[in-house]
Amino acid sequence: MTKNFGPEYVRAIAPYQAGKPIAEVAREFGLQEDAIVKLASNENPFGVPESAKAAMSAAAAELGRYPDANGFDLKAALSARYNVPADWVTLGNGSNDILEIAAHAFVERGQSVVYSQYSFAVYALATQGVGARHIVVPAKAHGHDLDAMLAAIAEDTRLVFIANPNNPTGTFIPAADIEAFLQKVPASVVVVLDEAYNEFLAAENQFESADWVKKYPNLLVSRTFSKAYGLAGLRVGFAIAQPALTDLMNRIRQPFNVNSLAQAAAIAALNDKEFLAKSATNNAAGYRQFTEAFEQLGLEYVPSYGNFVLVKVGEDTGAGARVNLSLLKQGVIVRPVGNYGLPEWLRISIGLPQENAVLIAALTKALAES
Ligand SMILES: *Cc1c(COP(=O)(O)O)cnc(C)c1O
Repeated sequence: MTKNFGPEYVRAIAPYQAGKPIAEVAREFGLQEDAIVKLASNENPFGVPESAKAAMSAAAAELGRYPDANGFDLKAALSARYNVPADWVTLGNGSNDILEIAAHAFVERGQSVVYSQYSFAVYALATQGVGARHIVVPAKAHGHDLDAMLAAIAEDTRLVFIANPNNPTGTFIPAADIEAFLQKVPASVVVVLDEAYNEFLAAENQFESADWVKKYPNLLVSRTFSKAYGLAGLRVGFAIAQPALTDLMNRIRQPFNVNSLAQAAAIAALNDKEFLAKSATNNAAGYRQFTEAFEQLGLEYVPSYGNFVLVKVGEDTGAGARVNLSLLKQGVIVRPVGNYGLPEWLRISIGLPQENAVLIAALTKALAES
């Protein structure tokens, strides 16, 4: 008999299920790594921007030293870009780190956290990790039901997570709805607005949420360099909030949570407007490529505002796993979402046109077998 270590709320955590790495699929299915197409983790298909590679080469000479614990240069760049004071910025080892730090900084064990059904898996992990109570609000049309979320806020609620656009469903909440929500949320409840896919939004949907931070002392906006900026492997994200929140975030975070290469690369990527524009253009074209194919195949999908699409690949609860296995055998990695309670669906990241074409052909074959 082994002893049970740790608190019950830690033992109850269901570990995060990441997209399968290319090398693992190659080993498991006896495939060549370079023949595999990975559309599983919403990464940028262009990879690391050249500007960021150059910045990292320059920064590599100093790797014998600790990184700047305060991220002075990166915070200065973000401060200029978002027009907020530098001390309103908190850096994270990926925005995942920001979400975890927020849970630790603002929520006590036994208090509650509100988030939506079908929203990002890390909200449940961060909540569970501090021994808090989950208030999971049923989704509306696969997206956030802000009225229901507002009504679900309890006396002991300290944090609300909102993903906009949402992962894994790709749904989007217009600016006016978010602002109406912010006006009504009790001032004692911290709202984390997680905008990991913001840079993919079309111009007409763009809004500057950093400006809301000036109006709402309980708002924390979270962004990442992992998606549109192509730096997923480096782990850099950041939060913008007023000092009352930022100060607490800074007490909880590890002193050196963002490494030197990541800080240098993020500054370069932030200023690389061309790379960002190229990524957005490719994404819009890939979205059309996917959705036209899904319509031809008669597949239901959730209209997406991110760099991925949630598509229904069958009517039975085994459909997602079955089609996923067929895709893996054909060397295409996508994301099954059974762990989100969506076992009939797959989440597919938008790649380069040729990668998208490989996915469409493999999916067509998988559905014919299914
Ligand atoms: C990918 C993602 C993140 C986290 O990305 P990091 O790599 O940790 O910055 C956060 N929120 C959502 C909704 C995501 O999809």
